[in-house]
Amino acid sequence: MNNQEYLSSLNRQAIVEKLGGEEFDILVIGGGITGAGIALDAATRGLRVALIEKHDFASGTSSRSTKLIHGGLRYLKQFEIALVREVGQERDIVFHNAPHLVIPEKMLLPIVKGGSLSSFSASIGLYVYDWLAGVVRSERRKMLSTKTTLQTEPLLNKDIVIGGALYTEYRSDDARLVIETIKKAVEHGAVCLNYIEAKNLIYNNQGKVTGADSTDLNSGNSFQVKARKVINAAGPWVDEIRELDKSRKGKRLHLTKGIHLVVDHARLPIHHATYFDVADGRMIFAIPRAGITYIGTTDTNYKGNKENPGVTKADVDYILAAANAIFPDAKLAVEDVQSSWSGLRPLIHEDGKDPSELSRKDEIFISSSGLVSIAGGKLTGYRQMARKSVDVVLKQMKEDDNQAFVSCKTEKMTLSGGEFKNRDEIFKYIEKCTGEAKQIGGTQQEVADLVWKYGSNTAEIIEKAYELRETNRTTGAEQPENLLWQAEVWYGINKELVLNLGDFLIRRTGMLYFERPQIAKRLGFYKQQFAQMLKWDNVELQHQAEYFNNEYTAVVDFTNEEK
Ligand SMILES: Cc1cc2nc3c(=O)[nH]c(=O)nc-3n(C[C@H](O)[C@H](O)[C@H](O)COP(=O)(O)OP(=O)(O)OC[C@H]3O[C@@H](n4cnc5c(N)ncnc54)[C@H](O)[C@@H]3O)c2cc1C
Repeated sequence: MNNQEYLSSLNRQAIVEKLGGEEFDILVIGGGITGAGIALDAATRGLRVALIEKHDFASGTSSRSTKLIHGGLRYLKQFEIALVREVGQERDIVFHNAPHLVIPEKMLLPIVKGGSLSSFSASIGLYVYDWLAGVVRSERRKMLSTKTTLQTEPLLNKDIVIGGALYTEYRSDDARLVIETIKKAVEHGAVCLNYIEAKNLIYNNQGKVTGADSTDLNSGNSFQVKARKVINAAGPWVDEIRELDKSRKGKRLHLTKGIHLVVDHARLPIHHATYFDVADGRMIFAIPRAGITYIGTTDTNYKGNKENPGVTKADVDYILAAANAIFPDAKLAVEDVQSSWSGLRPLIHEDGKDPSELSRKDEIFISSSGLVSIAGGKLTGYRQMARKSVDVVLKQMKEDDNQAFVSCKTEKMTLSGGEFKNRDEIFKYIEKCTGEAKQIGGTQQEVADLVWKYGSNTAEIIEKAYELRETNRTTGAEQPENLLWQAEVWYGINKELVLNLGDFLIRRTGMLYFERPQIAKRLGFYKQQFAQMLKWDNVELQHQAEYFNNEYTAVVDFTNEEK
């Protein structure tokens, strides 16, 4: 198989055999942004890499963030200057490497009576923030009068706003960032597979970790993945892997939960992403995005079920009360919530600190068995986290076997789909693809939606749509309702390791969060396509449909207590 074929779920068995049949240089446990970044970094330094993910790629925290590639303005308040500088600079790198997924967005910061920032402190803070991140002059912060702030965002509460600022942040899609990184890693020879769980670690005679007993959760089969080094990038589960290694000593994880609520944009029709004060002294975001506005986040200690942290009624009340205080005319109610998500921050515990005070810095733990665990950090800083982890492993390899140290190569490496020199090229590409998709009934909006997800790989989806039309004609099969939808499902299964409806509707397309009403209309179509392409019989289809239905209803099912 060529490297690309390792991205097809139809080749799953061959990929499992490869995982079980070779000795790799590095085994990465965890397919969130941290693990994906490590796989890409290591593969491009010439190492043979295996990555296993127990659920789907990005199914942990990396599909449940605020989806901003940002420097973390609030960390400036905590004087985490080095962190702000690092993530600020990384923000620019990710923007250039995945321009189809990282969208510059003006963020409005209203200054309110009794709020945490005055015009003066906001002006200084944002100046430093831009300076640390090396923001170009035209994009630097602009302070606004009360009148201009209210003109910029008429929905703001006129009784409390006393000024404002506009500064630049970047909106992204966390789960797509993960998959584009995985795809690039696979292009460079990494073997990455979802639904493979590390159950136990394996060791050599000297007590050094040399792989993991693993189970394919799709087939139930178990096998060993062997490697010279193991990196634990299991996010909220990092301590569980350290426990398997009997090395959970000293510093430990502290999980805090953050939720987001999605409402129809018509119910909160803001023009700008807004970062605003909450009565308890925290700040949260309201972010408009193609037909919806999402609001978040909370930050509460969490000790419940890690697999699927839910959203409680108290979480909903908190976010709605905060939004209604700053946008009083919206009068948002629980009935307005169309969707939601809830994620866990894998932070490093510090005695006596509240959730919001805990540092977002990343940290690496190296155990006596050689297991390298990495935790903390931000989506935005994933490339540096990857670089640091692989540096550590290469240093170990130098000590063990005198292996040459190769430096990190990812700074100027575009992710899959990111082959554009600048944003203008993206708009030209949308025009070009729209022309190409006309004959199969593709609209400009549909094509643009694809390009902002799949970037320069969109042409492959359009090409496939033509091919499917021909196949349908020759076989006499009925043409589907929409050839682009059919081709997109094909692309997910054949090029992005999609194995079930949730992989596609939650993490590859974001539809469950951002277009939930569309799912209700198209689900029958998707079920039929999946059954056909993955050869599900009726029993399997029923099972898959029920599984997805639970995920579909969970996003509007708010509990009284943590799960
Ligand atoms: C509410 C919230 C908002 C945030 N907002 C932002 C933001 O706007 N910008 C930003 O930069 N950062 C943000 N972050 C932080 C960012 O999302 C996280 O730092 C990042 O996603 C963590 O990625 P990870 O890969 O370390 O963990 P995860 O994404 O959780 O990945 C770990 C993976 O390991 C897998 N795994 C666990 N155990 C095993 C096993 N035994 N075998 C195989 N696989 C296993 C899990 O299934 C999981 O997929 C936010 C976080 C939260 C919670």
